Amino acid sequence: SKYLHCNLVTKVRVIVRVRPFLLSEIESKGGNPIPCVSVVSPENGSDQEVSVYLKDYETSRNECYKLDSFYGQENDNVSQIFQKEVSPLIPGIFDGRNATIFAYGATGSGKTFTMQGTDELPGLMPLTMSEVLSLCERTGCSAEISYYEVYLDRCHDLLEPKVKEISVLEDKDGQVQLRGLSRVPVASMSNFHQIFSSGVQRRKVAHTSLNDVSSRSHGVLVILVSTPSGDGSGNVVKGKLNLIDLAGNEDNRKTCNEGIRLQESAKINQSLFALSNVIYALNNNKARVPYRESKLTRILQDSLGGKSRSLMVACLNPGEYQESVNTVSLAARSRQI
Ligand code: ADP
Ligand code: MG
Repeated sequence: SKYLHCNLVTKVRVIVRVRPFLLSEIESKGGNPIPCVSVVSPENGSDQEVSVYLKDYETSRNECYKLDSFYGQENDNVSQIFQKEVSPLIPGIFDGRNATIFAYGATGSGKTFTMQGTDELPGLMPLTMSEVLSLCERTGCSAEISYYEVYLDRCHDLLEPKVKEISVLEDKDGQVQLRGLSRVPVASMSNFHQIFSSGVQRRKVAHTSLNDVSSRSHGVLVILVSTPSGDGSGNVVKGKLNLIDLAGNEDNRKTCNEGIRLQESAKINQSLFALSNVIYALNNNKARVPYRESKLTRILQDSLGGKSRSLMVACLNPGEYQESVNTVSLAARSRQI
């Protein structure tokens, strides 16, 4: 069937997550706003292809796109996404395979909430770390993390006391090396929270002259797992999982960007477009995958495609029609089979 065929060739699943309206949005819209996005068929969280329907209630414009799955406005949907979409990727990491999970969408659409979450509602990063740690405990494997950001095509280590720039190198086998990137062993969740939040803090203070740079850079958490090869040789098999809070895909016509902002958003759009091109090439079995079109896709070369499995979560603000169309259309274009 078509469904089976899709699952066999889809290397990067592309799903949609709609965040709930915020209290302030409900109030400003007079109490009962109608979301601009819904799913036609089948139900939430289904394994089958879904049709995502977008409608602008002011102008009656509408669009429909096909994607791999849909998660609606329920508050707990990050844990649902974790269980159905992310958890199945974790055992492969212990077999030496790589994986990448992206949150993609406009600023305010819920990317950071999806990836980092809050103390009460942990996002995909802590949920993944927690499952990796419990598997490590049971199997005698060990975990380390790296955390860096890609801003204006430069990579900065966020786990170093002084944020420093790191260079991207490739060896002959196409394995990517981030020279100078630190790795920190993680033994427990409290250990993780301590290390990661210091990185989040560093990311905030690294660019004091610009406010909210974090939404205009890609934030990459890498969880590395070393598994003893089991043949008594003392060798280890290494797998890694990249969890990425992508920069917001802003619409320059709307934000009237100038100067450094325009330069930033040109870089962001270029890297998001390059990422979409790579995912499209992988999902459609193209002979040439254009990894070299941006810094971000070069870095991810060994973690997208090949034996890797990946997931793109397209995040939507239910009150923003045009922004949602921009996000979902690019997501659907990446997936197209
Ligand atoms: P982005 O990182 O894409 O700019 P955020 O993750 O900061 O967006 O989310 C925008 C706002 O929406 C934040 O105030 C966040 O707390 C809120 N939000 C997102 N998802 C949810 C959710 N499932 N439940 C409650 N609030 C949410
Ligand atoms: Mg954010």
